[in-house]
Amino acid sequence: MAKDYYDILGVSKTSSGDDIKRAFRKKAHEHHPDKGAGNAEKFKEVNEAYQVLSDSQKRQQYDQYGQTFSAGGGPAYGGDYGGNPFGGFADGGGVEFDLGDIFGDLFGGRQQRTDRRSRGIDLEMGINLTFEEAVFGVEKKLTLEKQDACKTCGGNGAEAGSKVITCPKCHGQGQIRTTRRTIFGNIASAVSCDRCNGMGKIPEVPCKTCSGNGVLRQEKTISVKIPAGIDDGQRIRVQGEGEAGYRGSSSGDLYLVVRVSAHKEFVRDGFNLLKELPVSFTQAALGAKIIVKTLDGDIELKIPAGTQSGTVFKIKGRGVHHLNSSGRGDILITARVIVPKKLSKKERELLKQLADERGEAVEVDQSLWDSIKDSF
Ligand SMILES: [Zn+2]
Ligand SMILES: [Zn+2]
Repeated sequence: MAKDYYDILGVSKTSSGDDIKRAFRKKAHEHHPDKGAGNAEKFKEVNEAYQVLSDSQKRQQYDQYGQTFSAGGGPAYGGDYGGNPFGGFADGGGVEFDLGDIFGDLFGGRQQRTDRRSRGIDLEMGINLTFEEAVFGVEKKLTLEKQDACKTCGGNGAEAGSKVITCPKCHGQGQIRTTRRTIFGNIASAVSCDRCNGMGKIPEVPCKTCSGNGVLRQEKTISVKIPAGIDDGQRIRVQGEGEAGYRGSSSGDLYLVVRVSAHKEFVRDGFNLLKELPVSFTQAALGAKIIVKTLDGDIELKIPAGTQSGTVFKIKGRGVHHLNSSGRGDILITARVIVPKKLSKKERELLKQLADERGEAVEVDQSLWDSIKDSF
């Protein structure tokens, strides 16, 4: 026997939405459980009535059938609170109590999330690359132990020759709905069906290899294309290579955390490669052609006469491949002019001649020089 919502709110069947709202506020105020003369049961009824009559669609259903229907098929005031009926309540004037607390609980806990064990979980693992592999990209074979699709049944969990049928317990819904009575009304909640684990389907005869789960812990070797230009610390997502989903559901993803080993010659700076090049002071003064190692092989670098220490030479397009786009960075070579620490007798004489030629004062007495040097 349906309740008379119009009667509960004290309005007529032809009342406007505004009239219903006004009547609801008055009644809610009157019966609020926090008030001395409040009545939780009546307050609940008022709320229930307002839920229906304030919603034109529900009101129409109620007028026609004496009850309303939610999307799930049951009465609307099971779990289907379409929205906060107290929207705009506070600015309505003359209302001095707060409905937030009482409804926070009601709305917050009204629908339990279903715990569907369907999609496989994501995996993460480290991957070590050489400097060159990161610069140019590489194809890597990885072996991982993970939950993967059962090869006997192909992942659906059904023994050969048997079918996958609709779950008889939840009738394919994947969840069991229950209604709990509280002082604020009936609160519907849905829990994942334990027979089918929320899938709505079960194998008629479970596969013996995987016990009907469709997945098994096993080793799998996969081939992964590492893109050129990847850098230390970056993550690569390999779609669908996480753990397999329950009974043929979609798989999770695999995340590879990249570790790149250091290089003997180069330091990476974004897509550029940095390197210091020792240049003797005669090479720097007279100019020279110096063979420089790059990742693509040796290159002849021209050092012009009069090169100063710290001068940067750029070898264009021989750096790191841009990640996911064409082109490469550069190699930046910084010249370091090296002063020889040891000189032969002849070298010393030649340099003394050079100093004389340039009119530079030099001290060639080695023992005296050592004493000066120590005082710095
Ligand atoms: Zn199986
Ligand atoms: Zn079920």
